[in-house]
Amino acid sequence: MHSIYFGPEHHEFRRNVRRFVENEIAPHADQWEQARAIPRQAFRRMGELGFLGVCFPEEYGGAEGDIFMAMALLEELARSRMGGFAAAVAVQQFMAPQHIHKYGSEELKRKYLAGSISGEMVGALGVTEPGAGSDVAAIRAKASRQGDHYLINGAKTFITNGADGHFITLACKTEPGAGARGISLIVVDLDAPGVSCTRRLEKMGWHASDTAELTFEDVRAPLANLVGQENKGFYYIMQAFQLERLACAAMGLGLAQLCLEHAVKYMGERNAFGAPLSNLQALAHRLAELSARQEAARQLTYHAAWLYQNDLPCVAQCSMAKLLACELAKRVADECLQFFGGYGLMEEYPMARLLRDSRLGTIVAGTSEVMREIIARLSFGRADYK
Ligand SMILES: Cc1cc2nc3c(=O)[nH]c(=O)nc-3n(C[C@H](O)[C@H](O)[C@H](O)COP(=O)(O)OP(=O)(O)OC[C@H]3O[C@@H](n4cnc5c(N)ncnc54)[C@H](O)[C@@H]3O)c2cc1C
Repeated sequence: MHSIYFGPEHHEFRRNVRRFVENEIAPHADQWEQARAIPRQAFRRMGELGFLGVCFPEEYGGAEGDIFMAMALLEELARSRMGGFAAAVAVQQFMAPQHIHKYGSEELKRKYLAGSISGEMVGALGVTEPGAGSDVAAIRAKASRQGDHYLINGAKTFITNGADGHFITLACKTEPGAGARGISLIVVDLDAPGVSCTRRLEKMGWHASDTAELTFEDVRAPLANLVGQENKGFYYIMQAFQLERLACAAMGLGLAQLCLEHAVKYMGERNAFGAPLSNLQALAHRLAELSARQEAARQLTYHAAWLYQNDLPCVAQCSMAKLLACELAKRVADECLQFFGGYGLMEEYPMARLLRDSRLGTIVAGTSEVMREIIARLSFGRADYK
């Protein structure tokens, strides 16, 4: 692939990730999907290979790569044949430890960032609650100062890596009544007394990824576990959304690419009316249309990533990339399943899982409606996201 964004080192990295994912992860896909879990050893192995600290500093074990190394990794994760594996790794690297990396103390970085990069620790990010999803400012989990620690009470839901993980970067109200200005991020060990996983949630897709409902009852976390400044959490969460949305866009591209490749192969092999399906213009032109849209979504995502990397304003482009790439992945998975006819619905063929997994992208890390709202506000000059 020739690209202004990817050089020989990115191509080599992409090949290495693909080889690893196809040889060491994909063969376990059916088993892990059924078990609704990813063995911790898989994270340790990725840590060993340097795949969990792609953009983090070397002093914590990271590779100090650029955003396009991250894009390559995220796209290739789809080849694990588990959207849930891709999601778990994305949270582990691009969500849970991001705030710690940007705003955390040296002590937090040495323990939780380095632990995430090596794969010894699995991390989660806890923002969503039963009563607050898109409306982050409405969260109710509360952390109050008591001596040298915070006392935390509340509930979180839909938390990726929440059941089997080691720590959670938790959004809490430290000043109830102050709305968005009263939220802080606090790192909490998931085995701390008072933390319980009340349910592992059953989902339509991402089966291998653990999605937890968590409660916090008089949980004590040291004051030193505060990430950055008190009451600045909302701002940190909004800042981090750009990377999260780029990650979701890249995962959407990876999934759609895999669907297109499966469809091309199948349409070349399957005969109907004496010729391969690929000879049927009605199907081939639809595949062509999807391929064109995929290329457009890809280039928009790379452009947004380039803006992000160069510290240029990119809220609109990251939102557009997530919106278009994730909506497209859903459409590509649906249409490619159709090309498979009845086999598309069979679990021993790849399309059924890909379609299920494609459904999650337009909901997590900001829904498509929220992406449109952000873009609309910027278009009409009703917001000025810096
Ligand atoms: C599998 C999975 C994994 C997840 N992992 C995590 C995780 O690790 N950590 C975490 O904190 N969260 C996680 N989430 C939560 C996810 O980010 C939320 O589901 C998402 O932000 C939407 O919130 P909600 O589900 O409460 O929907 P709501 O916010 O209640 O939205 C309901 C509907 O209203 C629409 N809507 C809401 N606000 C607006 C608006 N302003 N304009 C137009 N339409 C609007 C939405 O688009 C949606 O269609 C996960 C979710 C899932 C399903």
